[in-house]
Amino acid sequence: MGNNGNNSQRLNCPSCSNEILVNPVFTIRENTDDLHALIKGNLNKFSCTACKKDFLYDTPMVYRDDENHYVIYYHSSGINENVTEALGFMDEIYTEMFADLSESQKPVCRLTLRRKDLIEKIKLHQKGYDDRLVEYIKYQLFHHSKDLDSTHMDLLFDFGSSDDETLIFLAFDQTSGNIIYSLEFPVKEYSELRKNFLGSLKLENEFNKLFRGYYVQVDTLME
Ligand SMILES: [Zn+2]
Repeated sequence: MGNNGNNSQRLNCPSCSNEILVNPVFTIRENTDDLHALIKGNLNKFSCTACKKDFLYDTPMVYRDDENHYVIYYHSSGINENVTEALGFMDEIYTEMFADLSESQKPVCRLTLRRKDLIEKIKLHQKGYDDRLVEYIKYQLFHHSKDLDSTHMDLLFDFGSSDDETLIFLAFDQTSGNIIYSLEFPVKEYSELRKNFLGSLKLENEFNKLFRGYYVQVDTLME
C-alpha cells in the first residue's frame, strides 16, 4: 500500500468508459480529511471529465492508527466475497507490512469486506468499544428479538445516537438499505460482558475462538 499522493492510475468511467487519471487513497490515517471523506461516503469518489458523472472507485484500503496499534483492512467487495481467501490475502499483507515489528509490537488487525463495516469498526475503535463484544451483542439481539432476521438484515452500531449509557443499533434491510428497527443495549451490560469475556487472558482466548481470526463479524456467530 503506497503513500497517498503518488498513486496515479487510469480508470475507465463506469458510465461512458472514458479513461481518466485519478489519485485513489489506499491508506487512511486518524484525523485526516481522508477519514472524514470515508465516513461521508466520498472517499475515492471521482468525477468523469467527459460525462461529468461521479462514481465511487471501490478499491482495497487500509485504516491505520499506528499510535494505538490498530489496523483495519478493507478487502473491497468487488474482488472477492470469500472470507477464507480474503483472510489469506490479509495475512500476506499483514506479514509484509509489519515485518520489522516484534510480535508484541504488531497491531491488532481486522478484516472487513464492506465499507460500512470498515466505518463501523473505525468508529468503535475511536470510541474505545471492543468490536468483538459489539458483534456478540448483535448476536444476542438477533437471537432474542423475534422481529430480527440475520439473513435479511444487518445490524450496525449507530455512532451518532449512542451515548455513555446506551448503545444504539440500527437494523437495515439488506435489499432496500432502509432502517427497519432501532435497538438499545445498555452500556452497563456491555461492561458486564467485558468482564465476563475479556476479564482474563484465558477468557479472552476462549472468546476469540468464536471468530475467524481477523474477521470479526456477527455472521460467524450465527453459523
Ligand atoms: Zn463518463
